[in-house]
Amino acid sequence: MSAKVIPVLDLRHIQRAAHVPALAEAATGLLSDTLARPLRDLRISVTDRCNFRCVYCMPKEVFDKNYAFLPHAALLSFEEITRIASLFVAHGVEKIRLTGGEPLLRKNLERLVGMLRALPTPSGNELDLTLTTNGSLLARKAQALKDAGLNRVTVSLDSLDDATFKRMNDVDYPVSDVLRGIEEAHRVGLGPIKVNMVVKGGLNDQEILPMARHFKGSPVVLRFIEYMDVGASNGWKMDEVIPSAEVVRRIDQELALVPVAPNYSGETAARWQYADGSGEIGLISSVTQAFCHECTRARLSTEGKLYTCLFATHGHDLRALLREGRSDTEISGAIAHVWEARGDRYSELRRADTTGPLAEGDSTAPRKVEMSYIGG
Ligand code: SAM
Ligand code: SF4
Ligand code: SF4
Repeated sequence: MSAKVIPVLDLRHIQRAAHVPALAEAATGLLSDTLARPLRDLRISVTDRCNFRCVYCMPKEVFDKNYAFLPHAALLSFEEITRIASLFVAHGVEKIRLTGGEPLLRKNLERLVGMLRALPTPSGNELDLTLTTNGSLLARKAQALKDAGLNRVTVSLDSLDDATFKRMNDVDYPVSDVLRGIEEAHRVGLGPIKVNMVVKGGLNDQEILPMARHFKGSPVVLRFIEYMDVGASNGWKMDEVIPSAEVVRRIDQELALVPVAPNYSGETAARWQYADGSGEIGLISSVTQAFCHECTRARLSTEGKLYTCLFATHGHDLRALLREGRSDTEISGAIAHVWEARGDRYSELRRADTTGPLAEGDSTAPRKVEMSYIGG
């Protein structure tokens, strides 16, 4: 494999450092990695920008006015995204999630949705097309997204209390606008809607029960996400992680819960149902109960690099292949080559006392890419 690695530690350079994948012979059909995990899901980051500055994702001190976001020319165009996506679909991807940054900041995103919707799948089954959003622009965009063929949305909301929510998004954004987005998405048929709540100890864990009470009995599935050590800038500490078991314990004390079997093998969220039959919640325990052994997810960054793990330190530059005029067969072979060499299982190997693979004091180790860039 020819590698183009920029040997410096500045984050902005490291984000762009990438290996250009080898051009293997065409390999179509289903793929399996070194741990026998198939390629099933593709997350596409359509922008590295965001109108929020969530403290656990894009802290203001790092993502300030001097931060070098990608220039427009570096972004994959909708045509380029669709071409790459079609090759992934031919390799067995059945589910595509658009993310970012804040995906609804990308102009005319519904046009991309329409282009992806038109992709044929080898099985003939409809592609599952979803989007994760902070909800701020959702009320305005929901109908157009639905009309273009989006199936569902996941909305991030960390609190129902304005003061807490504003402390978390750090841009003074009110809860009511996000709730309006959720309502509109439901009204136009972008359900079943999932709401993601990242629980950060000492910041919003007092909101676990109010959130559970609010969404219990509604069509929304609330999912609690353990605060993760993604990227290299959120200052993650293990003692700020509230384990999912503790979330269940707190809810169960007031609202009895019973465990439910997963919908399908590889589902990231463990499911619990309210004992009175009024809906369910999900728990995503990336820290305390890692699920790497079932991880079937590839990520395409905003500038077209393929990452095989959320905690990766480098990506494989598919944009370079596209823009140097490589054929579908060649790019498809390169994707196969990367997936077949994949052995990532970061969360299963995570050490409790570290902020990532970067050992403290080791200034030469590569840093993990930021979640807003790679796509959450
Ligand atoms: N901006 C959109 C949003 O917030 O929904 C999409 C991108 S965001 C990176 C995707 C998801 O990652 C969100 O649900 C967010 O809460 C989650 N996330 C970001 N940083 C996280 C962290 N450190 N630990 C756990 N989840 C995180
Ligand atoms: Fe933006 Fe989403 Fe990250 Fe919050 S979690 S800063 S909304 S990309
Ligand atoms: Fe998948 Fe990497 Fe997360 Fe493990 S740590 S579940 S391999 S993305």
